[in-house]
Amino acid sequence: MILSLAILQRPCKTKFNLKKELSETRVHRMSDDTVSVRTLSLDHYKEIVGEERVEQIRTMAEKISGGSVVHVNSTSFGGGVSEILYRLVALMRDVGLDTTWKVAEGSPEFFSATKTIHNALQGMQTPLTTALTDTYLQQNRGNATQLNLDYDYVIIHDSQPLALIEYYRKKRGKWIWRCHIDLSQPNQSFLGFLAPFIRLYDASIFTMKQFAGGSLKPTRVAIIPPSIDPLSDKNKPLPDAVVSSVLDRYDVDPERPIVTQVSRFDPWKDPLGVIDVYRLLRKKVPEAQLLLIASMASDDPEGWLYFEKTARYAGEDSDIHLLTDLVGVHDVEVNAFQRASDVVLQKSLREGFGLTIAEALWKEVPVVGASVGGIPLQILNNATGFLVSDIEEAAEKTIHLLKHPEVAKKMGKNGKQHVKKNFLITRHLEDYLKLLVHLSQSD
Ligand code: UDP
Repeated sequence: MILSLAILQRPCKTKFNLKKELSETRVHRMSDDTVSVRTLSLDHYKEIVGEERVEQIRTMAEKISGGSVVHVNSTSFGGGVSEILYRLVALMRDVGLDTTWKVAEGSPEFFSATKTIHNALQGMQTPLTTALTDTYLQQNRGNATQLNLDYDYVIIHDSQPLALIEYYRKKRGKWIWRCHIDLSQPNQSFLGFLAPFIRLYDASIFTMKQFAGGSLKPTRVAIIPPSIDPLSDKNKPLPDAVVSSVLDRYDVDPERPIVTQVSRFDPWKDPLGVIDVYRLLRKKVPEAQLLLIASMASDDPEGWLYFEKTARYAGEDSDIHLLTDLVGVHDVEVNAFQRASDVVLQKSLREGFGLTIAEALWKEVPVVGASVGGIPLQILNNATGFLVSDIEEAAEKTIHLLKHPEVAKKMGKNGKQHVKKNFLITRHLEDYLKLLVHLSQSD
């Protein structure tokens, strides 16, 4: 049944005083396996989505008021899932749900196995070995005995903790699996291994219908695209002075064109392809600068390998800036770099959704992105940016936008409207509530 819901190239130049603007959202301190999240009030979103919408959400939430919810994923830092959970968990609490976020632990071997699983689910042809499945299942079995998941609604994110359901003995609430990745062309042996676990869930959430097809056959499917929070440090309006001081701090020239991709160092994000795009476009726009911004997620052991590979590929070009959290590029800095960009790229080979696209569009920056996975939900070709199929086309469209700022401006404005209508956290929260209400009323 388908529910119709709807590192660091160079040290910092100057001492930087951003105290007022520095991240307030993230609290990485954990009590045992639970992530602390600061308080948010849905009322603050009235200024963006209107009072009526906020009241509708509160009315929906009242139907399951006092219900307990636990979100489980595998990291409290890095990547789109944790980005969303910091905000969603806080807002679920604000509307009356007793909401907790837990991180399922893992050994380095486990995270290496789950990265292989992640890659295979996105289509990489790699063998499914017994060593891998043993590592994966053993960790899930161990975590199932350690975690308390005795809640009314248990929401498991992605494949790392997916098999908890098999081993959790005191299952009483409704269990939901939330898939964040591009499942359009999976490695079938890995999908075959995981599908029986997926079918144990009361419902599964996918970003697009296309990700839920084939042999998967989940019990119930809800299609819910992700979202960004317009009030977070990552997306809130920033004074020009803050943007300028961030650029200055990292030696990025505000007078020259800036092209940016914000993405983990990962084969699917194709950082080397982004450098190829930049090299091509520099033939026509020689003054362009490239920013490759990436945070090193703790559940992503491949990140360092790809960082090194990317750094080698970039070579001695001082107009390619590799900027990571390890040199202080956090939410406000990402926000500033996105705002300062003339064009944002998302040259992924696979992409579940790509929050970075919505983040750029919200800041009225057009995006040139590959026509894969969840990207076309956000890039409406020729309206909010350009969908492209290869490096040459990506360079051509980026050059076009750099040479036609009026076109870029118009697309940026369209982009903001598109995000406002479809990809804000308020819509996301409402979709979750609809699903929980629906499940509360079903057997
Ligand atoms: N991000 C960040 N700092 C970085 C790189 C990425 O904060 O240096 C954030 C980015 O802004 C976005 C998230 O990490 O909010 C990445 O989510 P996305 O859906 O684009 O990709 P994922 O990493 O989940 O595949």
